[in-house]
Amino acid sequence: MAGERTEAKLVNGKWLLTGEKNMVTGVSIALRLPYGGGFVTITRTGPLEAKHRAITTMLFMVKRNGGVVNTGFETRDYEEWGGRRGGIPTGYLRLNGAPVDPEFVLGEVNNGFKIVMEGFDVARTLIGAAALGTARWMLEQGREWIRSRVVFGKPISSYQSISFKYAELSTRLEAARLMVYRAAWLADKFYRGGDSSVSILDIANAGGAMAKMLAVEAAIDVGLEVMKWFGGVSYFKETPPIARAFLGALSYYVGAEGTQNIMRLIVARGINR
Ligand SMILES: Cc1cc2nc3c(=O)[nH]c(=O)nc-3n(C[C@H](O)[C@H](O)[C@H](O)COP(=O)(O)OP(=O)(O)OC[C@H]3O[C@@H](n4cnc5c(N)ncnc54)[C@H](O)[C@@H]3O)c2cc1C
Repeated sequence: MAGERTEAKLVNGKWLLTGEKNMVTGVSIALRLPYGGGFVTITRTGPLEAKHRAITTMLFMVKRNGGVVNTGFETRDYEEWGGRRGGIPTGYLRLNGAPVDPEFVLGEVNNGFKIVMEGFDVARTLIGAAALGTARWMLEQGREWIRSRVVFGKPISSYQSISFKYAELSTRLEAARLMVYRAAWLADKFYRGGDSSVSILDIANAGGAMAKMLAVEAAIDVGLEVMKWFGGVSYFKETPPIARAFLGALSYYVGAEGTQNIMRLIVARGINR
């Protein structure tokens, strides 16, 4: 992010944006919204050596009052392994000197890095919540299945290797839930309550990184285990779509709002603080 290469240059009173970005969620949807829409761009507005001190965030409107207002860009949606057609796609964006009026700069020029980082911290709480919902649904499906699937004359829930795993995963899920709720509570206190006992570091650590790390890893482990409980049928579309829910959780695990290693990197900074 501090090494951002997409550039914005001020020419005749307009910012002209040039560059490309892989993996932008909802990028093509902005064009399909009936009244208007756009997305937030993160651009370099100074030399590369200035790193995070030359990053500016801008609201890039592509459609307003029902009409397209910006054509200086191209997008292409990716085909996803997990997502369904009709859901929110993630795609590629190319900016070809796309114009943005200065009134659409968010905050101050060259001070966008902080805005983006804070945005990530809060968005990670949302990802944590999405992972919790995915995990809860998968575990509920798994619970129904292990109660009804009979193998060697007994429901498989009566085998301890399965029931103990259910106990462990339920417990992890509840622990992750508390962490995500705490993250949301901290963000409320900080942003809405003006509570000075909460710092931006609390939001980044306990709020964003820890909540996302725990909830997403719980969802991945729940998904894998539940598919094992379903056995071979989990591989076919005759059964509830655990595999697809698992792939949805995987998108949070491998990338969306930062990888799991980056969550660890954020928390590990506490060692030298
Ligand atoms: C479904 C989906 C939606 C997305 N939507 C958006 C979006 O709307 N907007 C947007 O900007 N981006 C979006 N992304 C991109 C996402 O933010 C990136 O995938 C993520 O930040 C990781 O970057 P990368 O994929 O380039 O992986 P890389 O940075 O190349 O990382 C590769 C691997 O190296 C590891 N790694 C990297 N650095 C370190 C380190 N210092 N220590 C240890 N390990 C390290 C990572 O953890 C990872 O395992 C989306 C991604 C997905 C999957």
